[in-house]
Amino acid sequence: MSIRNVVIIGSGPAGYTAAIYAARASLNPLVFEGFQKGGIPGGQLMTTTEVENFPGFPSGVMGPQLMSYMKEQAINCGADLVMEDVIDVNLSNYPFTIKSTSQEVQAKSVIIATGATAKRLNLPSETQYWNRGISACAVCDGAAPIFRGVELAVVGGGDTAAEEAIFLTKFGSKVHLLVRGDRMRASKVMQDRVFNHPKITVHWQSVPLDVYGEEIVRGIKIRHAVTHEESSLAVGGLFYAIGHTPNTDLFAGQIELDPNGYVITKGKSTATNIEGVYACGDVQDHEYRQAITAAGTGCMAALEAERWLSAKQS
Ligand SMILES: Cc1cc2nc3c(=O)[nH]c(=O)nc-3n(C[C@H](O)[C@H](O)[C@H](O)COP(=O)(O)OP(=O)(O)OC[C@H]3O[C@@H](n4cnc5c(N)ncnc54)[C@H](O)[C@@H]3O)c2cc1C
Repeated sequence: MSIRNVVIIGSGPAGYTAAIYAARASLNPLVFEGFQKGGIPGGQLMTTTEVENFPGFPSGVMGPQLMSYMKEQAINCGADLVMEDVIDVNLSNYPFTIKSTSQEVQAKSVIIATGATAKRLNLPSETQYWNRGISACAVCDGAAPIFRGVELAVVGGGDTAAEEAIFLTKFGSKVHLLVRGDRMRASKVMQDRVFNHPKITVHWQSVPLDVYGEEIVRGIKIRHAVTHEESSLAVGGLFYAIGHTPNTDLFAGQIELDPNGYVITKGKSTATNIEGVYACGDVQDHEYRQAITAAGTGCMAALEAERWLSAKQS
C-alpha cells in the first residue's frame, strides 16, 4: 500500500486550493476528487452559471470554468488527482487509511474538503428553472439582473431564510418569505428585522408546490398547509433557504461533528479533534458558505498540515 504525505478528500474550491498549497510545499498530495458521493468533481460551483464575486474575475466567470482553472492549477503545481469517491477511512490508527472505489492508501495527514449539499425542494419543474429563477444562494445570485426590481420569494423559517430575505430586499421590489409552520425558527432578533422590514411579507403555513414561467420563473404555486387552499404568487425568483447537508457520513464516529453534522474545527484553525486531520470549506462552515472562504480555509489546512508534518519529522 502506498503512503502519502497528504491525502485530500474533495475537489471543490477548498480541496483544489489545499492541493495547490500542499503541492507547492513539495508534499506531493493525492486528491480524491469524488465521483458521485456528496456532489460531483469540482463541487457545488459546477452546478451554477455566472460567479460574480470570486476575486480576480472583473467580468465574472462561469462556475465550471473557475473550477477547471483551479483543477489545472493544482495539476500544474504537482498534485495527483483521482476522480473517485472515498468510501471508507480509518482515522484511529496512524498512518491513516483511505479507501476509494479502486484503491487503498495510507496517509500521514488528511484534509477533509467534502463540502455540503444545499437541500432542494424537488419541485416538479425545479430542474427546468434551476439557475433560471430558482437559486439556493441569495448571496451568490441575488444581484443577478433577472432578480432586480421584481418580486422575489424565499422559502424557509430559520436564520438563513431571514438573512436571505433581508439581503434580497436590496434587489427585489418586494420579498415574500414562505414559512411552512406558524412560527419561524430564526432568532428573535432576526425575526424582528423580518417583521419590521417594509419590503418583506411573511406567508405563514405556506408550502411551494411548483414554479411556472417561460424562459425564466414568473411565479410559484403555493398550498396552505392547513386549509390546503392553493394560490399563486407572481415572483421572478425563488430562493431556497432550507438548509444544507454537510458531507460527513464517512467520518461519523471518528471525527467530532456538531449536532448538524458539520466537522468541528479548533478556534481559528482547520484542526479537527484528531492530530494530522484537517477540515476546510463548507464541510466545517455553516456560516459563510462561499467559494472564497472555502478556498481560504483550504489554504489554511494545507499550511497547517505542512507545519504539523515538519514538526513531527524533526
Ligand atoms: C447553485 C450554487 C451557486 C453558488 N454560487 C456561488 C457564487 O456565486 N459565489 C460563491 O462564492 N459561492 C457560491 N456558491 C457556494 C460555493 O459553491 C460553496 O461555498 C463552495 O463550493 C464550497 O466549496 P467546498 O470546496 O467546501 O465544497 P464543494 O464545492 O461542496 O465540493 C465538495 C467536493 O467534495 C467531493 N466529495 C464529497 N464526498 C466525497 C467522497 N466521499 N469522496 C471524494 N470526494 C467527495 C465532491 O465531489 C466535491 O468535489 C454556490 C453554491 C451553489 C449550490
